[in-house]
Amino acid sequence: MRVAYSVKACPLIGVGAVIARAGLDASVASFGELLAARRSGFPASRMELHGNAKPDEELAGALRSRVGRVVIDGAHDIERLGPLVRKRVQPQPVWLRVSPGIAVDTHPHLRTGGLDSKFGVPISTGDALAYAREIVRTKGLALVGLHAHLGAEVRDARPYRELARALVAFANEVRAATKAPIAEIAMGGGLAVPLRSGEEVVGLADYARALAEPVRKEGGALRGATIYVEPGRGIVGRAAVALYRVIGTKRVEGLRAFVAVDGGMGDNIRPALYGAEYTAAIAGRANAPATEEVAVAGKFCESGDVLIRSVKLPSARAGDVLAMPSVGAYSLAMASNYNQAPRPAVVLLDGGRARVIRRRERPEDIWRLERR
Ligand SMILES: *Cc1c(COP(=O)(O)O)cnc(C)c1O
Repeated sequence: MRVAYSVKACPLIGVGAVIARAGLDASVASFGELLAARRSGFPASRMELHGNAKPDEELAGALRSRVGRVVIDGAHDIERLGPLVRKRVQPQPVWLRVSPGIAVDTHPHLRTGGLDSKFGVPISTGDALAYAREIVRTKGLALVGLHAHLGAEVRDARPYRELARALVAFANEVRAATKAPIAEIAMGGGLAVPLRSGEEVVGLADYARALAEPVRKEGGALRGATIYVEPGRGIVGRAAVALYRVIGTKRVEGLRAFVAVDGGMGDNIRPALYGAEYTAAIAGRANAPATEEVAVAGKFCESGDVLIRSVKLPSARAGDVLAMPSVGAYSLAMASNYNQAPRPAVVLLDGGRARVIRRRERPEDIWRLERR
């Protein structure tokens, strides 16, 4: 089994460097992520390029960089790649991303494996097999694998087992129909991590078994295939703690108290975007009795900018530091400068050392591309 870090979860160069050093591959969703991953130290040959809408420059750049795998996500990818690879001596290895028609119990914005998704080519309509044939006919491309990704925050092992079954069955069909030497089965990411205490998620051993058993026991000609997984959140989700300064508290008699902090949707849009739920503590008083149920409000000009709807805290005072754990995935990766807010600094704690791997933004950083 090979593990490819899904760079989009946290594309910070310094974080990628730690993961690259551990020997993982990288799964990138754009040419920009490919460049960031390369700076982190991942060789391009150990990267997979994803995307449902890859412009020509992205494909050309990735090919120039000698990307390991291009993941084909539709007819347009085959049409655009064809002219770019025609003269290749060594064909470009590609995967075909399929949609297996497996719906998982997660937020609709986080589902990607169903039929009604912008990602992947459906197996059930016959399109996936037709595209596989088209790839095999295209000079300069080598179809070496199949890929599917169910979506994010999957909390039980059952859909992974279904996914593995569907992929090996389809891979065997493609091999029989096209003679393509498929030997790689990529099962995406999506493993949930607990964001709050007591949350139930799939254990790693159960996860690995659910993916590997159908391949090893029922895989037929694909029994020895290399299984790829692409976790993002599973690797970095729990690795980061956001620190906010408490600005003040607004109490609405009989209704709710809002603890307002100096950040919010500009550095973590997930609660506003799809209802992600976090917990928090007052740093330095984590063990003080939690006396009040509060909402943690961000500073941005949107009513939806509430980082936590409900959490029990000791009475928060202006100047306190509020610590919000498990913010490593898709928080800074989706950060914006809304309200002209500079994005925060990032400190990496690694091997007992602390260092700044991204300095705090200044207003002039935000304006550097503008002219009047
Ligand atoms: C985003 C993504 C992942 C990673 O998802 P996580 O929920 O962070 O594990 C893996 N594969 C693909 C194709 C993705 O788009």
